[in-house]
Amino acid sequence: MLFEFKNQGQWSYICWPALEEAGIFHGFVTRPRDASSEEEGIDFHGQARGNLSSERGGRVPAAVKRLEGGGEAKYPRAGAPLPREGATGYPRAGVPGIDGPIKAFSLEHHILMNQEHGDSVHLIKRGERPTAGDGLILLEKNVAGIVKTADCLPVLIYALSVPAVAIVHAGWRGTALGIAGKAVRMLKALGVSPKEMCALIGPGIGPCCYNVQEDVARVFREQGFGEPVVQERQGSLFLDLKAANTRMLRNEGLREINDVDLCTFCREDLFYSARRDKGNGRQINFAVIQA
Ligand SMILES: [Zn+2]
Repeated sequence: MLFEFKNQGQWSYICWPALEEAGIFHGFVTRPRDASSEEEGIDFHGQARGNLSSERGGRVPAAVKRLEGGGEAKYPRAGAPLPREGATGYPRAGVPGIDGPIKAFSLEHHILMNQEHGDSVHLIKRGERPTAGDGLILLEKNVAGIVKTADCLPVLIYALSVPAVAIVHAGWRGTALGIAGKAVRMLKALGVSPKEMCALIGPGIGPCCYNVQEDVARVFREQGFGEPVVQERQGSLFLDLKAANTRMLRNEGLREINDVDLCTFCREDLFYSARRDKGNGRQINFAVIQA
């Protein structure tokens, strides 16, 4: 699967064009660009991994293609407001990094919950608007599910046959609680086979940088996670949230799990990182089924 890095006005996001074409607009949005940066935006050279689950022991690199000339996204549709206001630097009051893209991507109809690092997943069929939780399963069209992250993992699980898309916020607590697996089981309860589901794992802190203490490592070890989820290097412990979620999804029967393989801590040019920045900057991740 090929990931693309696209621009919408001053905002950049990572997406899977095939999923967009199938009617699910989605993105892992990067941090706002510095006003002093060049108009063309971030020079992005990354590699993504595809089909983690289907390749024996392997992570198949798939190129991340950066669209030339600022590759304007296909969405929002013509007539949607363009993100000129707040286009330079940080958006207006509120948590930095959120208001701007909501406007730029025309996500005014959205659900943005107070995230609790728990495992609450809400089913959105018609008009439900939960205010707290860490996961959404969207069946309703034209309402965007949004999760904020800055090291935690955003995970999308979709089934085009319904269509349905789940968006989940999975930090170490949510991962330990199995929130991504819970979302899959809720989709199964709707009659969706895991063979019809695909997962996309967005940017989050990688095992390269996610140094954890013994208490966190123990939680995962007690659940049967050893290497590569809990890694020991030079006397320190590191956690691989992507590997943990991948294993969880595979255990639920998913065959196609794709990972953008970008570390929020390493890539300061692209992402906020709660650990690195010690600030409140968050990037948003969204998905919406378009009618
Ligand atoms: Zn890293």
